[in-house]
Parts: sequence; C-alpha cells; structure tokens
Amino acid sequence: MDKLAADSAAALAAGMSYGKYMALKHKPVQRKPEHKKPEGDRVCKVCGAWFFAKVHNQLTCSHKCSVENGRLKANERAREIYAERKAQNGE
Ligand SMILES: [Zn+2]
Repeated sequence: MDKLAADSAAALAAGMSYGKYMALKHKPVQRKPEHKKPEGDRVCKVCGAWFFAKVHNQLTCSHKCSVENGRLKANERAREIYAERKAQNGE
C-alpha cells in the first residue's frame, strides 16, 4: 500500500474526506511571534527610559533629562567641594 492509499484509508477510517484529513495532518507551521522592536539601546541616566543614542557619548534621552543631569552633577560636585573644604578647615 502506497502512502496515498494509506492516507485515504486512514481518512475513511476517521470518517472524513481525504482533503480534510490531510489538512488536519499537515497543519501549517506556526511562525514564532515576531520579537517586539526594541525601544532603544541605552537607558536614560535620569529617568530610566530606553532610548536610541544619536551620539556615542549620549547619556540621557532628552534635552529635559540632559538639563536635569547637569543640575544633579553640579549638586554632586558642590557637595564634594563643601566636604573637602570642611575637612581642610578642620571640623
Ligand atoms: Zn530621560
């Protein structure tokens, strides 16, 4: 018995047409769900959002965050200078 005859016999045994039997037997292969497009290649230093860097040394996602980052850096430096001076002057 060749494959065609075997399949049609199996279809008859299952109580359905050959076409329907073969369609059920050879279900189309489910493609994997496509991966979501990444929202960026870096994380913003200030707000933590993902973004694509436009220049190699970009740390923040937007101008707003860039300004905020500058403010934070200045505050940090001011605190360091204050601590240094306090240590120098004794107390
Ligand atoms: Zn940001």
